[in-house]
Amino acid sequence: MKDQSKELEKIEQGFCPKCKHNTIEMVDIRGGGCSPKIITYRCSSCGYENSFTKSNSSCTL
Ligand SMILES: [Zn+2]
Repeated sequence: MKDQSKELEKIEQGFCPKCKHNTIEMVDIRGGGCSPKIITYRCSSCGYENSFTKSNSSCTL
């Protein structure tokens, strides 16, 4: 869990944090609006899969 932000950084650049290939795909998004988004990413090369929670910064709740 401690490396989540680093993993997400790589993923947002389009790279898998595990195998470093640019085969990362967004497979699921839950939430949205003013509730936190839970985004699931998967790598089609090595099978890496992880979910990240993102709060919406434009909501002042
Ligand atoms: Zn991978």
